[in-house]
Amino acid sequence: MTTSRRYPTHEVLNQVSPLAGYNVADDAALLDGLRREGGGWAEAEVHDLGALAGAPATQDHARLANVHKPVLRTHDSRGYRVDEVDFHPSWHYLMSTAVSHGLHAAPWADDRPGAHVARAAKFMVWTQAEAGHGCPVSMTYASVPALRQEPGLAASYEPLLTAPVYDPGLRIPQTKAGLLAGMAMTEKQGGSDVRANTTMATPAGDGSYLLTGHKWFCSAPMCDLFLVLAQAPEGLTCFLLPRVLPDGSRNAMYIQRLKDKLGNTSNASSEVEYEHAVAWRVGEPGRGVRTIINMVSATRLDCVLGSAAAIRQATVVAASYARERQSFGAALIDHQAMTGVIADLALESEAATTLALRLAGAADRSARGDAAEAALLRIALPAAKYWICKRTPLVTAEALECLGGNGYVEDYSVMPRLLRDAPVNSIWEGSGNVTALDVLRALTRTPDAADALLAEVDMAASDQRVAAAATRLRSVLKEAAAAGQAAQRDVRRLAGQITVTLQAALLARHGPGSVAGAFAATRLEQGGYGPATPFGSLPAGLDLPSIVARAAATPAG
Ligand SMILES: Cc1cc2nc3c(=O)[nH]c(=O)nc-3n(C[C@H](O)[C@H](O)[C@H](O)COP(=O)(O)OP(=O)(O)OC[C@H]3O[C@@H](n4cnc5c(N)ncnc54)[C@H](O)[C@@H]3O)c2cc1C
Repeated sequence: MTTSRRYPTHEVLNQVSPLAGYNVADDAALLDGLRREGGGWAEAEVHDLGALAGAPATQDHARLANVHKPVLRTHDSRGYRVDEVDFHPSWHYLMSTAVSHGLHAAPWADDRPGAHVARAAKFMVWTQAEAGHGCPVSMTYASVPALRQEPGLAASYEPLLTAPVYDPGLRIPQTKAGLLAGMAMTEKQGGSDVRANTTMATPAGDGSYLLTGHKWFCSAPMCDLFLVLAQAPEGLTCFLLPRVLPDGSRNAMYIQRLKDKLGNTSNASSEVEYEHAVAWRVGEPGRGVRTIINMVSATRLDCVLGSAAAIRQATVVAASYARERQSFGAALIDHQAMTGVIADLALESEAATTLALRLAGAADRSARGDAAEAALLRIALPAAKYWICKRTPLVTAEALECLGGNGYVEDYSVMPRLLRDAPVNSIWEGSGNVTALDVLRALTRTPDAADALLAEVDMAASDQRVAAAATRLRSVLKEAAAAGQAAQRDVRRLAGQITVTLQAALLARHGPGSVAGAFAATRLEQGGYGPATPFGSLPAGLDLPSIVARAAATPAG
């Protein structure tokens, strides 16, 4: 009797190979945007990082950093309070790669035009390795413009924040080779309405302040420095709070517990309490919101970059699967209904990436003093932050379903993690409504903003559909500006319409004809803005194969 008989049921058939060993940077929309916005000189670096991001070893680090969640250690073995968080070595690998490639504050020390664009493209590529560790990377990037409000502190800390060295561990900041920064605004009673913060800041008499209070969300608590909002005698003020004081003692920032989160699992988000924690004022007393808004604006850009990257990643994973998987005698991607879904996701991705890089270009030029670009950024960034971050969970859920049941399984693909990580960019740095309301604030308080936006859209006026959308947008902006706060009910529609019109205009000027035409046909003509959801309900006559062809993973060379 033989035991080696093979049963047909044991054969593995029609399973799709894992998507690994590809170059994440082989993305035409990303590379075109990088060149167009002035960061073309960094293309080789972006490609190197793209190969690393798609490498099997990196994917393993990403998995391990999420499976082995950070662990809070409040005390040492002898009962002394230490307030440390232990991370898996894979977290440190991801952080070290990000910082050594300058994804943190490095562009602030780089005079080359396009430095912020190069950094944006690299961030978009590397976040496709793992998104969670982007949190401290982004906060460090964003801390510099806020810190510059206090030149003395900036002179001390900026060189270390911009240094491309990941040097973890709680030590005196000035003795470290590189620093990371976080931010702490949100309290139990509310994160949107930070003016209601209760943390008190008392002048210590030597130029420093003593902070007492709490923060309900404080991510990446192993950062070296935090920008914190607290109530000074003059009102809400921004402070710089180091974890370790100049004499080497630990500052009185106590980590109460870590949040048990839906996603963003590799990253630690904590609740902290301050008990006479030493801090130094940043910016004018009583103008804390105005000071920290410089940080919020930069982190909002990263929310857009991160979300656009997640949309691209989800689309590529879905398209790759659908190319290989067979059903009813054909590759999934060749079934018309599936071609439509993948093409629709690809349109969303092209538009998100193109706009994200346009905003990175505006951020780069505005950091170098370009007022028109600053005005465009002022209105287009919150609009895009609202819209693109809101689209991400929808895209990832649809892309996940392209893998059928396999999409739902943890060890089959990155899809479950992508879906869990998708909503967070919309929540932080101003949740949906708050960010959309900021668009209205920009419209009513920065008159140049609407002009800059319309000028940008008008550059594509030779496209009739964009021209018609621009006319609609012009009248909506005018009505909203005239209505002021009475337009609050419509802010979500306004933010969506701004974003989609701008995306259509950018694609009309810079995208391939197939993409620009299909985007306008599906997003501008169906009810004014945005596609009919769920994805995949496309009109006839579009060049879907060439759209789908752009959502491909190419092997790393
Ligand atoms: C994973 C994670 C990490 C975080 N890390 C940090 C961190 O490091 N530092 C930090 O400071 N914060 C952090 N946050 C907090 C985050 O910034 C806040 O959750 C966010 O700003 C919203 O504040 P809230 O949760 O208090 O909600 P609320 O302010 O209570 O808002 C609840 C809802 O009401 C809406 N809303 C509020 N006001 C209005 C209005 N006027 N009109 C209409 N709708 C309104 C909001 O859009 C939101 O949908 C983190 C959050 C998460 C999930």
